[in-house]
Amino acid sequence: MKRTRIAELFRRNETDIEVLVKGWVKTKRQSKKVAFLAVNDGSTLHDLQCVLDVSLFDEEQLKLITTGASVAISGLLVPSQGQGQAIELQVRKIELYGPAPADTYPLQKKEHSLEFLRENAHLRFRTNTFGAVNRIRGAVAYAIHHFFRERGFIYLHTPIITGSDCEGAGQMFQVTSLNLERLPRTETGQVDYNLDFFEKPTHLTVSGQLSAELAALALGEVYTFGPTFRAENSNTTRHLAEFWMIEPEMAFYELEDNMDLATDLLKYLIGFTLEQQADDVAFLCERYDNSLVDRLRHTLTSDFVRLDYSEAVEILTESKRNFEFPVGWGMDLQSEHERYLVEEHFGRPVIVYNYPKDIKAFYMRLNDDERTVRAMDILFPGIGEIVGGSQREERLDVLERRIHELGLPHANYWWYLDTRRFGTAPHSGFGLGFERLLLFLTGMSNIRDVIPFPRTPGNAEF
Ligand code: ATP
Ligand code: MN
Repeated sequence: MKRTRIAELFRRNETDIEVLVKGWVKTKRQSKKVAFLAVNDGSTLHDLQCVLDVSLFDEEQLKLITTGASVAISGLLVPSQGQGQAIELQVRKIELYGPAPADTYPLQKKEHSLEFLRENAHLRFRTNTFGAVNRIRGAVAYAIHHFFRERGFIYLHTPIITGSDCEGAGQMFQVTSLNLERLPRTETGQVDYNLDFFEKPTHLTVSGQLSAELAALALGEVYTFGPTFRAENSNTTRHLAEFWMIEPEMAFYELEDNMDLATDLLKYLIGFTLEQQADDVAFLCERYDNSLVDRLRHTLTSDFVRLDYSEAVEILTESKRNFEFPVGWGMDLQSEHERYLVEEHFGRPVIVYNYPKDIKAFYMRLNDDERTVRAMDILFPGIGEIVGGSQREERLDVLERRIHELGLPHANYWWYLDTRRFGTAPHSGFGLGFERLLLFLTGMSNIRDVIPFPRTPGNAEF
């Protein structure tokens, strides 16, 4: 007989058919005559209740079938006698693949702390929580591709190893094949990168943007969706050293078009999650964050505020709040400021735009006031910045002036500047942090819990 996934059985909701399921035992209850196994195969949050007539099975074998054991079970699917499920399996045959001895298997309790599960990240997929989070993660990744494909965007792969140290979005991890114990030196004592793999220093990418711009200025609309790396030593609940980013880049888009696209994308993904992963969302809502579903629905239907940075500073100043970081024009918004705007003042997502040029990257388009740039950050409740983007500087002379002003190594940007030399055009793009988005969609509060294998300072075990 062919195996059927448990989600499929619930979807079809048929009875009086013989089925074979394979999965892991979540719980076992046994009396003299019957045993109940809750079996889960990862395809759905819901366990299949399997009922055994104890007299028909070998006592020694039954003893080995405990929480965590993997089994193949066949039998007759019948309407359930008990509460809580429509169907259950009357077990005819059970095969034990691998036991999970109760005295050593770590996941015995019904609920474990998230901290405990982080220390056992190799096993945490087996919990309802990480099943739900990872099903949502996988589904949303698919939805992202669907969204862009439907709109004619081309999925672009940008390099993970980069030879440009000019991406400028944060501290980078160096990539080398040199022996760190015995670095080759030049006569002047510098590391001799001519002997390194790429014959120059290379790093893990912090953003695919600069590469995506090259493609957008020929292909029109492109997007990347891949891992990015930042060696920033910030041990927060919103930062990872390795995270995934969605970066669309569009020719002929101005800042407003950029905001429209980001808003559509976020709303599409929220709607998709509420609809397609309803069970997982409901579970997380009940277990961790009772306002999750309401917050998702509210965000889906609310207009995102569009707020000039200078107005944001005014609102913050007038709030008379005692912020830890004092407010003033020119400062970068700290998360306390972002949260005040989103959660208290407006009560919905806020897009802040026209930031001072001195706190933003060189490639953002300079406004006529010469003090601000066409940047935009989207701020979400409970998260703070979820999207960072801008209209790009397409004017060669202005871009060269900015590079010069900031003291950046002009020579490193020759290929980037070529796009402005030949057929330059207005264009825009943004970066959406995939795990920040998942924090919002799942209601989890620590970013380490929405990526299967978190990379943070001092932590790369699993
Ligand atoms: P922040 O100020 O929150 O540290 P940033 O301004 O450095 O973020 P950008 O360079 O604008 O971030 O990156 C675009 C998006 O990538 C951010 O809006 C955020 O969603 C996400 N992001 C940035 N850094 C991280 C990180 N270390 N871990 C997870 N996501 C991140
Ligand atoms: Mn940013």
